[in-house]
Amino acid sequence: MVRLNGLKMPRRIYLDAHATTPADPGVVAAMLPFMNGCFANPASETHDAGRQAAAAVARARRQVADLIGAAPEEVFFTSGATESNNLAIQGSLPDTRPTGARALTLATEHSAVLDPLHALQRHGTQVTVMEVTAQGHADPAAWEQQCARQPQLVSVMLANNEVGTIHPVSALARVARRHGAMVHCDGAQAVGHIPVDTGSLGVDLLSFSAHKFYGPKGVGALYVRGGIAGSALRPLLLGGGQEEGLRSGTLNVPGIVGMGRACRLAAVRMAGDMPRLQELRDRLEAALMAAIPGARVNGDRESRLPHNLSLTLPGVDAARLAAALPSVELSTGAACAARPGKPSHVLAALGLTASESAATLRFGLTRHLGEAEIDEAADQVLGGWQRACREG
Ligand SMILES: *Cc1c(COP(=O)(O)O)cnc(C)c1O
Repeated sequence: MVRLNGLKMPRRIYLDAHATTPADPGVVAAMLPFMNGCFANPASETHDAGRQAAAAVARARRQVADLIGAAPEEVFFTSGATESNNLAIQGSLPDTRPTGARALTLATEHSAVLDPLHALQRHGTQVTVMEVTAQGHADPAAWEQQCARQPQLVSVMLANNEVGTIHPVSALARVARRHGAMVHCDGAQAVGHIPVDTGSLGVDLLSFSAHKFYGPKGVGALYVRGGIAGSALRPLLLGGGQEEGLRSGTLNVPGIVGMGRACRLAAVRMAGDMPRLQELRDRLEAALMAAIPGARVNGDRESRLPHNLSLTLPGVDAARLAAALPSVELSTGAACAARPGKPSHVLAALGLTASESAATLRFGLTRHLGEAEIDEAADQVLGGWQRACREG
C-alpha cells in the first residue's frame, strides 16, 4: 500500500508499456541540469554554455547511434516516432501530381505510417496495403510479388504495438532493395527492447521514440542510412536549418540528453531484461490461459516481443473489464486508436471479428515488475473476468 493524500491506495501495477513507459530515474537525473543550469541553445557557439549544450547533444547522438549500430551522422532528432515516420514517408515520396510513385506497407502498421501514406495517396501515389497472415506476417510470396512492382518506398514495422509480432525485417528489406525500393522501418516498439542493428536489418530509414523505452516523451529519432549526404529526404519543417536542414527547430536538449541516457541504459540492461520479462510474461499468460476457457493469444507466439501479451477473452467487454480493475493499469489496444466502438485495425487484419477485438486485452510489461505484481495482476484480471461472466 502507498499513501496518497492521506488515502491508502493499492500500489499501481502498470501493464501498458506499449502506450508508454515511465522515464527511468537515471534518465530524469541526466535531463535536469539541461532544464535549469545548462539551458543554452546548442546553436549558440559564441559562449561556453552553448558549446556545453552542443557537446551534450553530440554525446547523446553517439549513445543513440551506438544502440542501433549506426554512425552519429546517421541519427536525426525529432519529436518522436510519429514525426520520424512522417518525415521518412512524406520526405521520400513526391508530393506533386502526377507522381506515378508506388509505396508498399502492411495492414498492421501504426496509424503514423498508414495515415501519411493515405495522405500521399490523395496526391497520386499508388499505395498498396498488404494483408497479413493470422500470425500477423507478410506472406513471403505475396511480398516478393508486390516488391516486383517496384515501389519507390516500402514501410514495414519491426515489432507490432498491439500483438508484439516481430517481423523478419532483414529478409523483407532484402527483397525490397533487390527491386530498387527504399526501406523504412517503424522501430518504435523494438528499439531499446530487443537488439536492433541497422546494418544487419538493411533498412534505409528507422523511426523510434524515447518514451517507449524509459526515456522522456516528445523526443525521438530518425536513422538515415549514410546520413544527409546519401539521402534525398525532403524536410517537413523549414526554418533554422538544424539537424543538417532535415529538421528545423531549436533542439530539445533535455529530451535529447534523456534519450541518449535511455539508450545507454537499454544497451546495458537489455540482455538481462529480455529473458526476465519473457519469463514474467509467460507466467502471466500461463495463469490466465489455464483459468479462462477459450482465451486466445493473438499474433505470433514465437516471434514476439518478450514483454507483450495480447489476449482475447471471448464474450467479455475488455474495456469495461480493464476500467474496473482496482490497481492494474492496462489497455485494450493502441492508445492512439482506442476509440470506443472502433475495432483495432491490427486485430481485424489478423482476422478477429469486431466482438473478438472488443474482448481483447493488451498487456505490456515494464522492467520494474516482479513476480508478486504479475501474480496480483493475474488475480485481478481473473476476478474481472469472473465478474463479467456473472453479469453476462
Ligand atoms: C508509439 C508508436 C508510434 C508513435 O510514437 P509517438 O512517440 O507517439 O510519436 C509509432 N509507431 C509505433 C509502432 C508506436 O508504437
